Amino acid sequence: MAASVLFRHPSSLEHDTGSHPENARRIVAIERALGERDWLGWDVRLSPAATREQIGLVHPAEHIDRIERLCRRGGGMIDLDTLVSPGSFDAAVHSAGGAVAVVDALCGSSEDGPVRSAASLQRPPGHHAEAEQAMGFCLFNNIAVGAAHAIGAHGAQRVMIFDWDVHHGNGTNAIFHERDDVLFCSIHQSPLYPGSGPASDAGGGAGEGYTVNMPVPGGSGDAVFLSHVEHVVRPLARRYAPDLLLLSAGYDAHAEDPLAGCRVTDAGFAGMAALMRATADELGIGLGLVLEGGYDLSALSRSVVVTLEALGAADAPALPQVPLDPLARRAQERLATYWPALA
Ligand SMILES: [Zn+2]
Repeated sequence: MAASVLFRHPSSLEHDTGSHPENARRIVAIERALGERDWLGWDVRLSPAATREQIGLVHPAEHIDRIERLCRRGGGMIDLDTLVSPGSFDAAVHSAGGAVAVVDALCGSSEDGPVRSAASLQRPPGHHAEAEQAMGFCLFNNIAVGAAHAIGAHGAQRVMIFDWDVHHGNGTNAIFHERDDVLFCSIHQSPLYPGSGPASDAGGGAGEGYTVNMPVPGGSGDAVFLSHVEHVVRPLARRYAPDLLLLSAGYDAHAEDPLAGCRVTDAGFAGMAALMRATADELGIGLGLVLEGGYDLSALSRSVVVTLEALGAADAPALPQVPLDPLARRAQERLATYWPALA
């Protein structure tokens, strides 16, 4: 397989949010940290703009038009958390395009064949955006567009999304709620914005059992997060046997993040990345990362670096030994209804 591929685009810097915590300095900090390390050997490429058809796999045309119109008119507030500037539409279509490009790279449609790892490090983030509603700093649901593209354009039958952002990925949860071809798993602090994602929400209709919410209390750190990955997410991946594994990678569960109260360290993110890398290798599938939140510039850039180190490592990184935490055990028990192998 070809080297790991990283997608970026300068339009990420033109989504002007002023003094908002989700601002262009996040991308500057990440790119500086990676640049100082020669991008860890990843092949760095410009992300394409997602087409209207690609974004339309998830969002109705009216939603796309509404965002575009607001940007063309000079920008403005969508809600108390979410605003756009004239450059935001271009940033948003490239941010969604990065997720599409990640999927294309993993599925081998580029000339150099399938890659083992791919990442899109762009903004605005996406996991709060619902089909018809921009919210929570998010305009288009990038990772959902990527997953839908994997199914629609590459014939993937099952895509697994693991969201370790400290906030619940309500948008992704809602978009795939009734579907069994996308398994959405989220670990998130509760209570916290946006208030969705209780353990009892396991999907609906044909998608019942294919939404896995793992709320954890504020103060949760490496032990709790790693235990959910080792003892819930990894066994689920083995049973579901996806064609593709995608990470909604937010870094706001970090102990130094100002927006939430979890206590994950750099080593915790490195450990989660190593466990997910090992899972994808075990299943023989590609692993794609799409950036979500993370608002302490130093913690964010350090944690992205250790994540990409683990994802891009040619040899399997050393896996952390992870005891079964009581909260993860309760999640296993709860999920055994749908996934008996977890009992
Ligand atoms: Zn977040």
